[in-house]
Formats: sequence, structure tokens, C-alpha cells
Amino acid sequence: MNNKIEKCIQCDQPTDRAGIHEDSLYLDNGEGPLCLDCYQESHILELETERDALRARVKDLEEHVAEIHAKMDRIMKIANGNNFGSVEGLVKVREIIREPEPPEEQ
Ligand SMILES: [Zn+2]
Repeated sequence: MNNKIEKCIQCDQPTDRAGIHEDSLYLDNGEGPLCLDCYQESHILELETERDALRARVKDLEEHVAEIHAKMDRIMKIANGNNFGSVEGLVKVREIIREPEPPEEQ
């Protein structure tokens, strides 16, 4: 057996590469060495995982923005026909900003 031949940890085929400090292919999480096919496949999976996490983050932020817009709408409803400069008006606005969105309101 020739232990100088680097083998892919996934498919056990020779990687056709030189070694850990040479041109071997390792994933961002340190896994390897990998042959080019397995590297590309795994790297795509890594990127897809990252993309999914970013999409989830965008969704969270969009929900947060929608929440802020809903609060702004409620604040503007109070502002219409009210003296926004009054202490009562400011207290109400502060309450809306702090409280969670009530489920029955739109
Ligand atoms: Zn492989």
C-alpha cells in the first residue's frame, strides 16, 4: 500500500493532489482532503446551508420591519385628530412602541 497517495475522505478515491500543505482540497469547516467532485458537491452544500440561514435572517428582518410599520400605522391613527404634542399622546405612543402587537388589531 502506498500511503503517499492522498485519498478522498468521502469516496476514498485518489484526490490527484499533493498533500495538506499543498493543493489539497479542504472544506471551510476543515473536512478533507476531498477529490474535486466531492469538494464541489460538499462546497455547494455548505453554500446552500449558508444561503438558507441568510434567507431565514432576511425573513426575520422583514417580519420585524412589518411589525414596525404596523406600530407606525397605529401611531399615525392616534396622531390623526389628536394633539401629538400633548403628554397623553406621547405616553400613548411610547406604550405602542413598547407593547407587542395585539392579535386582534390589523
Ligand atoms: Zn471524493
